[in-house]
Amino acid sequence: MSKQPTGGVHLNLEGVEREELEVDVLVVGAGPAGLACAIQLKRLLAQAGKADATLLVLEKAEEVGYHVLSGAVMDPKGMAELFPDWREKGCPVESAVVFDCVDYLKARGGKVRLSGPFVPPPLRNHGNFVVSLYRVVRWLKGEAEALGIDVYPGFAGAVVNYDGTRVTGVQTRDAGLDKHRQQKPQFQPGMNVKARVTVFAEGTRGSLAKGLVARLGLDAGRNHQLYETGIKEIWRIPEARAKELTGHVIHTLGAPLGTSGYGGGWIYGLSESRLSLGYVVGLDHPDVKLDPHALFTQWKQHPAVAELLAGGEIVRYGAKTIPGGGYFAMPKLFGDGFVLVGDSGGFVNMARLKGIHLAIKSGLMAAEALAEALGKDDTSAAALAGYAARFEASWAKEELYRVRNFRQAFQSGFFTGVLDAGLQQITGGRGLVARRTARADHEGRRPIGAARLAKPAFDGKLALDKLTDVYHSGAVHEEDQPAHLIVRDPELCVTRCTVEYGNPCQHFCPAAVYEWPHADAAAARRAGGVVINFSNCVHCKTCDVADPYQIIEWTVPEGGGGPKYVDM
Ligand SMILES: Cc1cc2nc3c(=O)[nH]c(=O)nc-3n(C[C@H](O)[C@H](O)[C@H](O)COP(=O)(O)OP(=O)(O)OC[C@H]3O[C@@H](n4cnc5c(N)ncnc54)[C@H](O)[C@@H]3O)c2cc1C
Repeated sequence: MSKQPTGGVHLNLEGVEREELEVDVLVVGAGPAGLACAIQLKRLLAQAGKADATLLVLEKAEEVGYHVLSGAVMDPKGMAELFPDWREKGCPVESAVVFDCVDYLKARGGKVRLSGPFVPPPLRNHGNFVVSLYRVVRWLKGEAEALGIDVYPGFAGAVVNYDGTRVTGVQTRDAGLDKHRQQKPQFQPGMNVKARVTVFAEGTRGSLAKGLVARLGLDAGRNHQLYETGIKEIWRIPEARAKELTGHVIHTLGAPLGTSGYGGGWIYGLSESRLSLGYVVGLDHPDVKLDPHALFTQWKQHPAVAELLAGGEIVRYGAKTIPGGGYFAMPKLFGDGFVLVGDSGGFVNMARLKGIHLAIKSGLMAAEALAEALGKDDTSAAALAGYAARFEASWAKEELYRVRNFRQAFQSGFFTGVLDAGLQQITGGRGLVARRTARADHEGRRPIGAARLAKPAFDGKLALDKLTDVYHSGAVHEEDQPAHLIVRDPELCVTRCTVEYGNPCQHFCPAAVYEWPHADAAAARRAGGVVINFSNCVHCKTCDVADPYQIIEWTVPEGGGGPKYVDM
């Protein structure tokens, strides 16, 4: 059973007067895609004698960069198109990649290492750079502002405004409502930002983009988008070991997931004695006790990972979904008055675990199409189609098309996935089947009785529980506001979900937002159903994707709330 998403409409308050702001182009989301698009568009408009065109970038985080989270190994291809002199200009880089390998972690400890020519081609990283995406987007924001682009952090796009099928802009989230939706003295109604074109650059599972795609049927004839959740920590480790590992890129397969689903780990050597480490797992895993945080913890406890962290301490924690479905899962990228860029448009190469270069490239291609459309004073779908045409003729399409069946193949089992991924390498991406389809992530869950996945033992040092990790994410939300996580049919949690799936939200959420402490249905009803600690939310969107009944809707909280992913 699924319900139509509303994109946050629940906060539309009758009779509230809203300020109007009119701009030429509105970009929702200050990640690499949105900022690259804004920078390139401003340049192109200036070249066309339209230097006074107004561009506004809205960002829901309190500071630009607080809500981006990535590995990150960056393929410099996109950045070098945006700024051919990006290194000389001072784009922050942790290290050039100096070593890469793939470790197969055995269930009982020990590992088998593939290095040099034995590293599978998608995981070869020489020529790439280890970066902190936080630092990169902070730098991009500076470049955008230097060009005269307005970047407003602390403003979340809450509702898409339409005129028929035409997007006319967005309404920002109201601030100053209490948890019963009553106005507090400091109430500030969200404003209506009217734009000739709106660029949706919200990243993964954008709350506005989701509603837009559903309303306009932009995913008609496409595969279901598939998502993975990535759990990440940054650790500071003893200096001598850190020096040895700087610029090292280690990917792992095997334990703890084994062959039960799609996923694996990464360890990237950063500067300043730090390591970036993380674990990614496909949310199409059939076990309803799937707990990405637990898998990450078990992975850290594997001797091959634990020995790298010995004597170290955690610096930061975070989690985020990745839209890994690839080329056939990308929605239509444009319509009347809007385009979708970056993760919101599905620009991720899951075989490489890379999206930054594609996000930047999508922003560049959208900017060219927007400049052309604005030049003709026509921002209809027909005029913006130039964006999709540019994509189809680009290296980004070529790259994504070469891995078009990658992620879907793993739904036929781990070994089929590995075999097909190998075949895809020698058949230009075709593999065993010309066009693979996939079931949506939430569709293949086994009933609770078949759940097998176990929880780790936490020790407060290497294995940190969810609440300790949430503390290290810096997540904070104003508590006295309407919950931004909406359960559309709470009774279903008490009746069907308890019996069929055992309330999996308490497992899959990596921030301990959802709790089910109830002894039975009567107690659950008395307590109001599932407990939602929304203040813990790290904006990963796992709940929105993984809920088996699709009744959880992630909407934006008051602008500024959420994690503080400094240096992630
Ligand atoms: C765990 C993990 C590891 C990864 N590792 C790598 C890697 O090593 N290399 C690589 O190239 N890629 C990697 N990726 C993918 C890469 O990070 C993304 O593809 C890339 O960040 C997408 O850029 P974006 O601009 O589309 O979205 P984002 O970087 O997510 O930025 C979107 C921005 O929009 C804001 N926003 C969202 N909704 C709203 C709203 N309604 N109103 C206002 N603002 C909003 C968000 O707060 C955020 O700041 C990884 C991703 C994850 C999750």
